[in-house]
Amino acid sequence: MKQLWLAAPGKTELRTVPVPEPGRGELLIKVEAALTCGTDLKAWQRGHRLIPMPGPFGHEFSGTVAAAGSGVRKFRPGDAVMAVHTAPCLDCDYCKKGFYNLCRNIMDTKVLGAFGQYVLLPRRIVQVNTYHKPKALSFEEAAFLEPLSCVVHGVERLEAGGKGENALIFGAGPIGLLHLVLLKAKGLRAAVCDPGPARLRLSKKLGADAAFRPEDAKKAVERFAPLGADYVIECTGRREVWQSAPEYARRGAKIMLFGGLKEGMQVAWPSHRLHYDELTLMASFHFCPRDVRLAVRLLSERRIDVKPLISGICTLAGAERALGRLALGRGIKYVIKT
Ligand SMILES: [Zn+2]
Ligand SMILES: [Zn+2]
Repeated sequence: MKQLWLAAPGKTELRTVPVPEPGRGELLIKVEAALTCGTDLKAWQRGHRLIPMPGPFGHEFSGTVAAAGSGVRKFRPGDAVMAVHTAPCLDCDYCKKGFYNLCRNIMDTKVLGAFGQYVLLPRRIVQVNTYHKPKALSFEEAAFLEPLSCVVHGVERLEAGGKGENALIFGAGPIGLLHLVLLKAKGLRAAVCDPGPARLRLSKKLGADAAFRPEDAKKAVERFAPLGADYVIECTGRREVWQSAPEYARRGAKIMLFGGLKEGMQVAWPSHRLHYDELTLMASFHFCPRDVRLAVRLLSERRIDVKPLISGICTLAGAERALGRLALGRGIKYVIKT
């Protein structure tokens, strides 16, 4: 089968590799749609701790069961499925405390290689984080399950959802826009700040109540939320945005730091505001099985529409060009088809 490998930063290779055989409890999935992701882009640009090089590439996918290993009862060959690429062990000290996203072993069974014809799902993922795809949902939409699960995890942590609440989102890439559609579906007012005019237009199309460039943020937020935002959500992975987030928060607000910074980076915050204005700083990493379940429901019940986030469709050979476009800030997510 054909599989795209990330060989080195800036370099992918189309390889021919054997189709894996599913063992006990495993599923072989024919990939029907895969998506590019911000993590893929980072890995392609400068390498990534969680994506070994050289190695198979791509982790957001949906597909059809090509073969089921012995002992699999829930799925049969031909079934359309949606899944995420990890599952917690349910057994380590963090899993026992319910912090499944922080499972010590969660990355052990991680599936990479969605930019390829087949992926093999290990038993743990089959048991915990694989679902039947409803007919009405396209494979392209179903492939959003992983990024949406991440966003659901963050939003659940914020406990956002009251009508009359507002959120300010920094960054209108895939993660910022998924926050936008989810928070709008929950009835919040939402504003988006991003330097890209095309992304601001898309934010408006997706229901943003305000969309503005960073240089206009101060004035625009004064109009959008005169007290400051109830929730400030950072989706840029940039230190200056982490640092400036409290400036836009109302007293008692929650600030979600979603975009990871490079290891070793330090951030300075105004301690006076954090204390006397009782700001809550939060971060969010990965997702728990309950977030995946919730994301499956959001997609299946069509409570959110992810289609406008698809910027184009390309082949495995065209994937690198798609990443190049993303690096220039063009497009949100590309569908990769074999
Ligand atoms: Zn992803
Ligand atoms: Zn665990």
